[in-house]
Amino acid sequence: MAASPGIADGTHEGRRLSELRNEYLTALGIPIWVQRGAETDAVDAGASDWEDLAGQVRACTRCALHTSRTQTVFGVGNTNADLLIIGEAPGADEDRQGEPFVGRAGQLLNAMLGAVHLARGDVYIANILKCRPPSNRDPKPAEAEACTPYLERQIAFIEPKVILAVGRIAAQWLLQSDQPIGRLRGTVHSYGTANTPLVASYHPAYLLRSPLAKAKAWEDLVLVSRILNDPL
Ligand code: URA
Repeated sequence: MAASPGIADGTHEGRRLSELRNEYLTALGIPIWVQRGAETDAVDAGASDWEDLAGQVRACTRCALHTSRTQTVFGVGNTNADLLIIGEAPGADEDRQGEPFVGRAGQLLNAMLGAVHLARGDVYIANILKCRPPSNRDPKPAEAEACTPYLERQIAFIEPKVILAVGRIAAQWLLQSDQPIGRLRGTVHSYGTANTPLVASYHPAYLLRSPLAKAKAWEDLVLVSRILNDPL
């Protein structure tokens, strides 16, 4: 669905109307779809720096997840990173510690980064959602929609050379695709108006359950390394 005129015109009134429209659609249980990277910023046009954006996220009440979170999980790492890793949403460990990928999946992610000579602090790590969905259920489209302007602003600040989307949820949402992750991985996609190269791969939590898939995840990491070392 194309961004509505209310979003596109970017005025305060336009944003208010667009937020009202989204509230109505959410109340009716109707998913709100907007092509990723094509919409203008509906939430944080005033977020001129990281501190401002982080404050907006900390105070966010745009979806019901704010009522069950321990804290928001903004993102972590090098804000000038060449590689931006995007996962799905905080789990229990992340909700407790306020940092993405700190549980077992995070430890595997760190090891995978090490295999391509990257430390956790070299990259930036964020999620589609900044708040934990109860019982780790999949994010609802309206939640992802509400949270995406924050992620888009993070991407705009970082200007990464490549985005690595880990897991079906992140890959499908960022690419606005319903293809399975096995089809989305293995090639270089393009994200947003900046045409940032995007590689999709398996989620580390899936790799913990299905170690045989690690070989393909390794191929994806090699693809990412190639892009990093050989900027387009
Ligand atoms: N899984 C994710 O997708 N993100 C996290 O931060 C932790 C687990």
